[in-house]
Amino acid sequence: MIPDQDIGIQGDEIKKSSADVILTNQSHVACNGGGGTLGHPQIFLTLDNEGRVTCPYCSREFVMSAG
Ligand SMILES: [Zn+2]
Repeated sequence: MIPDQDIGIQGDEIKKSSADVILTNQSHVACNGGGGTLGHPQIFLTLDNEGRVTCPYCSREFVMSAG
């Protein structure tokens, strides 16, 4: 008998939100949506008092990394 040990191995669920989160250590960040055809015109964003800002174009969230 062959044990069924390969069940569910391929179902590697990746919990991913709809928007990316980019860690930064700067209060000013530039975003172009990743560039290329999927990008958007480069804009500059300023992190708020909580150390985060969301790009209005691509909904990426920039978060101040501790340290
Ligand atoms: Zn963006």
